[in-house]
Amino acid sequence: MAKAPVLTPRGADFPRWYQDLITKAELADNGPVRGTMVIRPYGYGLWERMQAEMDVRIKATGAQNAYFPLLIPQSYLTREADHVEGFAPELAVVTHGGGKELEEPAVVRPTSETIVNEYFSKWVQSYRDLPLLINQWANVVRWELRPRLFLRTSEFLWQEGHTAHATYEEAREFAARIHRDVYGDFLTNVLAVDFVAGRKTPRERFAGAINTLTLESMMGDGKALQMVTSHELGQNFARAFDTRYLSKDGTQEHVWQTSWGSTTRMIGALVMTHGDDDGLRVPPRLAHVQVVVLAVKDDDAVLAKVRELAERLRAAGLRVRVDDRTDTPFGRRAVDWELKGVPARVEVGPRDLAQGTATLVRRAPGSKEPVALDALPALLPGYLEDDQALLLRQSRARRESRTVDCASFEEAVEAASAGGWARVPWSVLGEEGEVRLGERALTVRCLLAEDGSVPGDGDAPGNVAIVARAY
Ligand code: AMP
Repeated sequence: MAKAPVLTPRGADFPRWYQDLITKAELADNGPVRGTMVIRPYGYGLWERMQAEMDVRIKATGAQNAYFPLLIPQSYLTREADHVEGFAPELAVVTHGGGKELEEPAVVRPTSETIVNEYFSKWVQSYRDLPLLINQWANVVRWELRPRLFLRTSEFLWQEGHTAHATYEEAREFAARIHRDVYGDFLTNVLAVDFVAGRKTPRERFAGAINTLTLESMMGDGKALQMVTSHELGQNFARAFDTRYLSKDGTQEHVWQTSWGSTTRMIGALVMTHGDDDGLRVPPRLAHVQVVVLAVKDDDAVLAKVRELAERLRAAGLRVRVDDRTDTPFGRRAVDWELKGVPARVEVGPRDLAQGTATLVRRAPGSKEPVALDALPALLPGYLEDDQALLLRQSRARRESRTVDCASFEEAVEAASAGGWARVPWSVLGEEGEVRLGERALTVRCLLAEDGSVPGDGDAPGNVAIVARAY
């Protein structure tokens, strides 16, 4: 008898499958205010691992963590014209506090460029104070009209980096370094999510930036998701907040700045990249639970073995959980770990014990085999590395097989409407073509140079556009 599907099949209704998975894998629930989200412990564990891995990479660039207030005077937001225009529709504004109307309303931060600059202006005096490299882990609020769990919530968790540099070149190189060595490395080596690295078109730039670098990934349904962004802010905020430094030559100069962010959206990307009809598949390097050791039955010898094995696996450097909830049927527990996407499941029952074996189930390849109990601590770390690599290969293969080279606007529309990505010369689209794509619910995700590298300033001839439907 075929087993009844636990989730809405992915091929039948991708959005429902996504919602279903998030609920049943206990990642998150909808919050009471529209667009908000409660992140449950299993989902939050994924976020904590993302934070830990991202944080070491951020610190390796020399940036330090700090914290700025949640509430920003409304007047700050209005100082940079593009910035306020971009964010005004999404702002939550606090007008009352302590039972009284406030003299000046405060906005709940949608991002912190303005308040950060207010303080950078005080902290930066001379070229000796530069570069100033700050990161903050925080929540932000953007009143989203089309919210979706993790992908686009009204309140989300993120890190936002803010830096100030003496020169345009240095700021530019720093934004690129974050894009490549922090975000690119994290996606490749931890999330196992393939991407295309490029820059946004002027239309799609961050409000207030002179250049936005992006990593775009293809989800399981062929749609694109903007994973992370790194912005060159030029001197726009420096002028608005008068953030200046005394140069070596004794002149007063505005600083050059960057900002960059990555959010809880990456959990949604994880689901839509690696999930299947049985649930999530968490890449082993990310997983907060890499191995679950299950006692099949309530049996003293089994329980003792399960605990001993868990200790040995921990000693081998793995993150291990014991499942000894033998009052819940074994099948239910197995399905639950499958849904949660724990990379490896080791099942120990009385019959296995007699033979000195356990059953090893690997989530990424879906394999199931008996293994010698004593061999597991030595074998498992290598298996998990293999499974990590498999997930990245599958993600890359999806993008490669569903990307079509196109020569014209019409071909690009056809390819992207069919659920893939179109690679098309930017010269055949241009800004006018970009607007016409919008009328068909398609977007230019990013521009890259013909050799796949991220192009520099300006719309250099030979640039290629990635056109897709997007989240
Ligand atoms: P931004 O400051 O607008 O460049 O945003 C930084 C990153 O946050 C983007 O690249 C998105 O991946 C992500 N992001 C933007 N809006 C949301 C949202 N409403 N919920 C979750 N993540 C978001």
